[in-house]
Amino acid sequence: MNNSIIMGDYHTHTKYSDGYTTCRENVEAALKIGLKEIAITDHGFNNPSRFALTRNKYIKQRAEINLLRVEYGSQINILHGVETDIIGCDGTIDANESDIENMDILILGYHSFAKAQSLNDWRKLYLNSFLSWLIKPSEAVIRRNTKALISAIQRYPIDILAHINHLLKVDCYEIAKAASDYGTLIELNEKHINFDGDVFDKMLSTTAKFIINSDGHRVERVGVFPNVVSFINKHNIPANRIVNLGQIPVFMKNKNIGQKS
Ligand SMILES: [Zn+2]
Ligand SMILES: [Zn+2]
Repeated sequence: MNNSIIMGDYHTHTKYSDGYTTCRENVEAALKIGLKEIAITDHGFNNPSRFALTRNKYIKQRAEINLLRVEYGSQINILHGVETDIIGCDGTIDANESDIENMDILILGYHSFAKAQSLNDWRKLYLNSFLSWLIKPSEAVIRRNTKALISAIQRYPIDILAHINHLLKVDCYEIAKAASDYGTLIELNEKHINFDGDVFDKMLSTTAKFIINSDGHRVERVGVFPNVVSFINKHNIPANRIVNLGQIPVFMKNKNIGQKS
């Protein structure tokens, strides 16, 4: 496969969080590459506000995107959403119902500096993951993290799980099973692919679907996926398992199915 059949990039950042670009630059970069869709998905509300969206910043960004839609709408479809964080072992994320209402796309990730919903959740989800740099996480920790992510996809209409197993160590096979049950996509992230061959083969044995994203924080990274393309070739991933290869994906909002597929 080559880059030209990748239809859209659904995970990009801007200066509204920790990226280095404007919304316009991301859209223009995507257009230049020939993408049909781009999503702008900055980090969510429980991250330090200097490096993340606040609710006010999100409204401002939406207005900016609406203007870009007027300008570029005939050439490219621009989606607006958030890369949220998991903030509780019960699956709570840092976006509420009305936040989600105003998103075209909902991504769930995990980043070290998001504020957990309680001290206990911080200790379990965050401190433990930080320690996993030093000490291999125990089976019990991995089980707990996995359960948290699965609870999140059961509770919220999450379109995409970003870079799973990157900082928060999980059982990728169990996540893939749940993702396929709930119609949540697993990201093939240009910056972080954190499953090895054997685990990935097991993930492929489920009916989970995947999506290619750049997670670009700089203009030259938007719509550029060399690592993902070589991963796909290496593992012979069938094209019909990847929703933005040669086709435009349909996200939860437009599926009209509530939370479950
Ligand atoms: Zn970031
Ligand atoms: Zn991320």
